[in-house]
Amino acid sequence: MLDPKDWQAFRALSHAALDDALDYLQEIRDRPAWQEVPAEVQERLAEPLPQEPTPLDAVYAEFARSIMPYNSGNIHPRFFGWVQGTGTPTGALAELLAATMNSNVGGRNHGAIYVERAVIGWFRELFGFPTDASGILTIGTSAANLIAVLVARTRTLGANVRETGVNIEGGRLIAYTSSATHSCVRRAFEVSGLGSASLRVLAGDSLHRIDPATVARAVEEDRELGNRPFMVIANAGTVDVGAIDPLHELAELCEREGLWFHVDGAFGATAILAPSLAPKLHGIERADSIAFDFHKWLQAPYDAGCLLVRDGALHHATFASTPNYLTRMPRGLASAQPWFTDFTIDLSRSFRALKVWFTVKEHGAKRLGEAIEANVRQARLLGDLVDGNEAFELLAPVQLNIVCFRYRRDGMDEAALDALNDEIVIRLQESGEAVTSSTTIGGRRAIRACIVNQRTTDDDIRRTLAAIERIGDAV
Ligand SMILES: *Cc1c(COP(=O)(O)O)cnc(C)c1O
Repeated sequence: MLDPKDWQAFRALSHAALDDALDYLQEIRDRPAWQEVPAEVQERLAEPLPQEPTPLDAVYAEFARSIMPYNSGNIHPRFFGWVQGTGTPTGALAELLAATMNSNVGGRNHGAIYVERAVIGWFRELFGFPTDASGILTIGTSAANLIAVLVARTRTLGANVRETGVNIEGGRLIAYTSSATHSCVRRAFEVSGLGSASLRVLAGDSLHRIDPATVARAVEEDRELGNRPFMVIANAGTVDVGAIDPLHELAELCEREGLWFHVDGAFGATAILAPSLAPKLHGIERADSIAFDFHKWLQAPYDAGCLLVRDGALHHATFASTPNYLTRMPRGLASAQPWFTDFTIDLSRSFRALKVWFTVKEHGAKRLGEAIEANVRQARLLGDLVDGNEAFELLAPVQLNIVCFRYRRDGMDEAALDALNDEIVIRLQESGEAVTSSTTIGGRRAIRACIVNQRTTDDDIRRTLAAIERIGDAV
């Protein structure tokens, strides 16, 4: 009913669309890093529900004209706005193939299951987790962090918590994290029903890292108050400045205190692929769970994150259920236990492992690590250029791949400097030359450049800073 009536025509259109897409990627450097969706395009897209068919070539023409040019910028070599990957042409090809298979990866016995298991196996080994550790591909690290909080909750309260819900009469469950932690962790506490009052947010040191001694004191205080400390959420690469918490010391503390040790390594954890950076992650192998993304520094197209859990049985006990319509069988399509749906909140799941599998196999772990190393070198270059230029001021030490700085002007008060830097970031985006974002570091408005971009050259870094200086001078 819905397949092409004329396969020959469909084939011709598909080939043309693929060629357009490849041209687009090959020439991405010559396009604006960002451009606003014009008002008339926004209006056109807000059309009412189409009741009647539209010829496919007209639908495609509208896509090519009204949608494709207005990408969010992150595929451009001078996009440093937020922590976002660029993707790769191979990733796009894998998406086409995955959509063709249209596998439902909630479970059962078919090819996609074994690909996801293979991908999980690679990263389990990379992070030094045991073979009975579990893993699941998620929408992203936000979802992976939420699942980790739920598993840690199950360990503390028992699987019965699935029935009783969180009963805080026996003392509130408390987790510890730094003020540099991503906002999705707070949301995980809100969504899980534990409540954000169960998340103790502790100030970091001058490098935005959490101090294990501060955590230990807070744990002691909470016990005296009748609360139940249960979890530490450490960062391997904070979203604002790329700080890595002292993972080894925190692992020690968690072991001593019987706390679940979770690492949010959304982008930073994947730096383990780079031999020069892996030592910074020392201690991550002792985590109870690690959340990280394939769609950031590993350049898989959106979306793909991952959660690894050392105690696979506990992970399973947090989610598993077998309604009649999901009856498992010893052979046939309903076999191949355990099913992925038993480790997450989704039943139907896309074949997101395929783009990761293609990416890792095509490039190999070594080259992916080199791309990460290159970004860290470029961050250092940008940091040095900022440091050596009177017009700028570095607002945080460059620890990994993120540079926070501001344009300065003598005699300007702080509020005016904040406004000036916000204006520079907006004008840079509007110019289409490059994209950075804004954040606040120690009360000061910063221009934030996150370098998670396999297309960036050193020249792109120089060109971006020159554009920022030019804009700053002109404001
Ligand atoms: C990006 C990020 C997240 C959120 O991950 P998503 O994949 O966007 O859901 C969480 N923590 C850190 C440190 C991040 O950089």
